[in-house]
Amino acid sequence: MRMEVLQSQRVELMVGIAFALVAVGAGTAYYFYLSNKNKPKGCLDPENFKKFKLVKHTQLSHNVAKFRFDLPTPTSVLGLPIGQHMSCRGKDSQGDVIKPYTPTTLDSDVGYFELVIKMYPQGRMSHHFREMREGDYLAMKGPKGRFKYQPGQVRAFGMLAGGTGITPMFQVARAILENPNDKTNINLIYANVTYEDILLKEELANLACSFPNRFNVYCVLNQPPEGWDGGVGFVSKEMIQAHCPAPASDIQILRCGPPPMNKAMAAHLEALGYASQMQFQF
Ligand SMILES: Cc1cc2nc3c(=O)[nH]c(=O)nc-3n(C[C@H](O)[C@H](O)[C@H](O)COP(=O)(O)OP(=O)(O)OC[C@H]3O[C@@H](n4cnc5c(N)ncnc54)[C@H](O)[C@@H]3O)c2cc1C
Repeated sequence: MRMEVLQSQRVELMVGIAFALVAVGAGTAYYFYLSNKNKPKGCLDPENFKKFKLVKHTQLSHNVAKFRFDLPTPTSVLGLPIGQHMSCRGKDSQGDVIKPYTPTTLDSDVGYFELVIKMYPQGRMSHHFREMREGDYLAMKGPKGRFKYQPGQVRAFGMLAGGTGITPMFQVARAILENPNDKTNINLIYANVTYEDILLKEELANLACSFPNRFNVYCVLNQPPEGWDGGVGFVSKEMIQAHCPAPASDIQILRCGPPPMNKAMAAHLEALGYASQMQFQF
């Protein structure tokens, strides 16, 4: 008799646990359903090019310009995950050309998005951007990219950027620093040829000023102006040691620059003991 009571109590307990698990599972699923339902739908299509209207062109230097594109409504969001990019399609005398670009805006910037583009004299897509006028449309497809970001996924990011490789870094930095629930630290090393080549100068300075304990920028120039107090030459192992978080399981070093720089940075990181899971190349 005592055995039967015990057994029936056990069955009741098991049924109770099963109900509790089902309830927690259903609650979690509902939470994710609601959060996805409330998330505004993005405007990009990963399979097909969609056209977006250029509404403002701002020349930032002799070869860099900011292009602002309208989204379909003033409350639309682009819907590009942090640190990912999109393919832009243009044309030159040889035909169609498709290149990747990362906007400098986030989904918190509603109704529009911006690209900061450096135009090279012989560049094929550069030619297309140089020819674009306000009112023209640009075809884009996305999102593209392997970078996945969850707030607080690492204690600190080190960032090694060269030239236009700053755009994904800037986007990730903005997303982290503008999120009050994210306490990640960021150390950026940004390499360029001349002072004039440094992109997003003011924006980077503003972030560094607003978050002095969490966002540090160290600029490196091949041809520094007189009185320059940043790094000189190419980004070295010593600069990485001095300005990036040391190898650890809760840090990551992000790389984005011209192919020779990426190759050199990968070799430096390996020599300094950063395991492959501590590195990511955009
Ligand atoms: C993930 C990702 C995001 C990017 N985001 C941006 C962005 O936001 N803004 C931006 O301007 N670019 C960005 N780029 C670079 C962009 O995709 C093109 O490579 C760049 O615009 C040049 O394309 P092009 O067709 O004009 O030049 P190409 O026809 O490919 O090149 C012609 C010539 O231009 C010169 N050139 C091209 N690229 C470089 C370079 N990086 N460094 C030095 N010389 C070069 C070379 O002399 C080359 O021979 C990104 C690249 C990646 C991979």
